[in-house]
Amino acid sequence: MEYPMICFNGPQPEEDGTYNEKTKHGLISVIIHEVGHNWFPMIVNSDERQWSWMDEGLNSFLQTLTEAEWQKYYPSRADPRKIGTYMRSSNQVPIMTNSESILQFGPNAYAKPAVGLAILRETIMGREIFDEAFQEFSQRWMFKRPEPSDFFRTMEDAAGIDLDWFWRSWFYTTNHVDLAVTGITRYVIDDGDPEDKSKREKTEDKEYKKNSLTDQRNSNLPKYVNENKGLHDFYDKLKRFKISDDDRKSFADSLADLTPEQRKLLKTKQDFQVVSFENKGGVIMPILVELHFEEGKPQKINLPAEMWKKNSRNVKRLFVTKRPIVKVVLDSGQQTADTDLTNNVWPPEIEKNRFKPGPKKESSNPMRVNREKKEKEQKKQEEAKSKKKSTKVTEK
Ligand SMILES: [Zn+2]
Repeated sequence: MEYPMICFNGPQPEEDGTYNEKTKHGLISVIIHEVGHNWFPMIVNSDERQWSWMDEGLNSFLQTLTEAEWQKYYPSRADPRKIGTYMRSSNQVPIMTNSESILQFGPNAYAKPAVGLAILRETIMGREIFDEAFQEFSQRWMFKRPEPSDFFRTMEDAAGIDLDWFWRSWFYTTNHVDLAVTGITRYVIDDGDPEDKSKREKTEDKEYKKNSLTDQRNSNLPKYVNENKGLHDFYDKLKRFKISDDDRKSFADSLADLTPEQRKLLKTKQDFQVVSFENKGGVIMPILVELHFEEGKPQKINLPAEMWKKNSRNVKRLFVTKRPIVKVVLDSGQQTADTDLTNNVWPPEIEKNRFKPGPKKESSNPMRVNREKKEKEQKKQEEAKSKKKSTKVTEK
C-alpha cells in the first residue's frame, strides 16, 4: 500500500534559495503525484505488493493531465517521445510482472503504463471515450481493490472497444513500437489496347537488351546465324511486336464486354497507389498516415490497429487519390512512441547531423576549472595591488 510521502519529497532549492529548472519541475511534479495518491490507491485501492503499476502507473498518468494545466509545454514524464530508449533496452520485464521482480522500476511501473494510457486516450480511443471509460473504472471500483484484469475489462466494457491487442503487447511483452513505411507502388489502368502494349513492350525490350554490359561487349562478335543463312528458322524472322487483326478484334470485343462501372473506371483521372507497412518493433499500433502531394495540404488517414489482424508483420493498403502521392509520413505528431523515426518516411531522407572543425579541446574536470578560475582572479588582484603601490611611490 502507498503511504503519503509528500513530506519526504526529493527536489529541494539550494540553501541560498536558488534552484535549477529540473528541480523546479521535479518538485511541482512530485507534489502533484503525491496529492494524486489520495485517489489512487487511497480511494480506488490496489495490490501494490503485486502490481506496482496499478497505483503508480495510473497515478503517473493522472499527474500528466494535471501538469498540462500548469504551464505550456510542461516537461511531463508520460510523453510517448520519451519512452523509446527504455522500450528498446534489453534489461526489462513486462509491466505485468510481480513488483518484487521488476527491473528498471521507474520506467516499468510509472512511465510505461502512463504513456500507454496517454496513447489510448489521444490516439486509440479518443479523449471523450477514454475519459468516460476511466471515470467508469474509478467509480465502479472505488473503495474496492481491483486487479489488472478488472481494469482491462472495465475499460473495454465502458468504452465498448476491444483492446485485448493493446493490453497484450503493451502490458504483457517487452516489445517496442517501430512501424515503418517500406514502399509504394503506383498502378496505372491498362485497358488492353494492343497498340499501347506493343509500344510499351518494344521500349522495355530495348531497355532490357541495353542493360547488360556483357551483351554490349558481345554485340560485335561475328554470329553464326548471320554467316550461315541455312541456320535461320521461324523465330529469327518473327516480328514480335507486330499487331495482328486478331489482336485488334479481341480488344474491341473486350471493350464491348465492359460493365458501365468498368468503362467509367477506364476514364478516371485518379491515382492508385499501394503503400507497404512493416511492424518492426512488435507492438501493435494504429497506422497514422500522412500523404503528401506535389502541391496543397497533406492528407491524414488513420488506419486502425485492426489492420494488423491477419498479418502482424506486413500489411499493404491501397490509396486512391486525386493527385499522385510524392511522400508518405507515419506518425507525424509523434503520438505512438515509435522508437525509430528514420523509417517513418518514404522515400527515405538523408539524415542530418553536424560536426565542428577545429582543434580538439582538452577535457577538464569541474574541480580544475574552479581552481584555475580562482588562480586567475588572485593574479588579477595582485597585479592591481602592485600597480596601486607603484603609483603611490611616484606621487611621493
Ligand atoms: Zn507514487
